[in-house]
Amino acid sequence: MSYTNNSKKNKVALIDCNSFYVSCERLFNPKINDKPVVVLSNNDGCVISRSTEAKKIGIKMGEPYFKVKELVKRNNVYIFSSNYALYGDISRRVMKTLKSFSDKIEIYSIDEAFVDLSHIGENEVENYGKEIRKRILKWTGIPTSVGISNTKTLSKVANHIAKKNKTGVTYLKENIDESLKNFHISDIWGVGKQLSKLYIKNGIDTAYKLKNISNSWVKKSTNVLGAKTVMELRGVSCINLETQETKRKSCCVSRSFGKKVTSLEKLKESITTHCLNAAEKIRNDNQTARAITIYIRTSPFDKNRKYYSNSISIDLPISTSNSLELVKKAIDGLKKIYKCGYFYQKAGIVLSKLNENSEKEFNLLAPIMENKSQTLMKAIDFTNAKYGRNAISIAQAGINNTWKMRKKYSSKIDTASFDFLPKIQI
Ligand SMILES: [Mg+2]
Repeated sequence: MSYTNNSKKNKVALIDCNSFYVSCERLFNPKINDKPVVVLSNNDGCVISRSTEAKKIGIKMGEPYFKVKELVKRNNVYIFSSNYALYGDISRRVMKTLKSFSDKIEIYSIDEAFVDLSHIGENEVENYGKEIRKRILKWTGIPTSVGISNTKTLSKVANHIAKKNKTGVTYLKENIDESLKNFHISDIWGVGKQLSKLYIKNGIDTAYKLKNISNSWVKKSTNVLGAKTVMELRGVSCINLETQETKRKSCCVSRSFGKKVTSLEKLKESITTHCLNAAEKIRNDNQTARAITIYIRTSPFDKNRKYYSNSISIDLPISTSNSLELVKKAIDGLKKIYKCGYFYQKAGIVLSKLNENSEKEFNLLAPIMENKSQTLMKAIDFTNAKYGRNAISIAQAGINNTWKMRKKYSSKIDTASFDFLPKIQI
């Protein structure tokens, strides 16, 4: 049986930033432009982004850093600790540029977005894709690949092909089957490790074979999502664009420590810092929190030491985004769960029940207090945006944060700071 595409009108593009974290580092450091570059995960653990040059040397994705240290040394590979503040900022710029093309956009991850192009004429689609690529490069400096097809799943396939394409743009509409024959089952969007195994066990090892599987077999052997993937490979759009940016229901900030922490003082510093970050995040989205959870734990893998993990949730009397109030509650909570004599590995906070209004309406003083605190918080956020992150903080966050993540190779670039503007010598 062969399947023909019966939804010609749908066109969707997947825009994916090439080696995104590496590209962000290169923006501020042009001398590494054609050099092998690698970015490491939290605490400098594993390789999470590689430049093409680094891929050619044989550095694999996800590999622990200590395993590639030799290769790195021998080939003069540039190493960077991850700088998520920088990547988040550049990501926002990329997405904003994309929105200049269409409102119908689904931000899928930090470096990927789907854009609806159904309104673009058949003959103009490819050029339109090239224009998207050109504008993002011009406005943000980030190189991208653009894959276009009739369904989200097929646009992902097109994007894989575009990555190897000179123009960086692929409109997959003809000879789709040829492409699907060369497309491994485990690379299909939505086909995870388990499903991959099941398919391969049944002789389905390419996207083409999956596309031509019988409906009854898919229904019997997988779930709804599995069936949708098959339909999408046939060009029938089943997975809609999620264009509505749903506001978050909770906001979590946690980190593993670079070095184990034992004292309450150090835990207080870390909880305070996380709390300030989370509060700033929800203020950015005009949200307030009605509850806060604090948690701490030791390493579950440390066989030589006793394990301890605990958390506490506190309901706030008034829904708030005020850093000072939130930190106060967080420290109160921490004191209740802290136990002396343990080597803590991780601490975190969760702000939840966001935007749930409280008895505020019945508290006459609340609006006045809230107004005052909002002005103060706005002033802090503005100062930090202007003079660099954490220009204004609170004393409890500490100054020499010895507990902080290992970031030996950080470029320390801060897009909110004037100090990092490129300098031109005349
Ligand atoms: Mg990418």
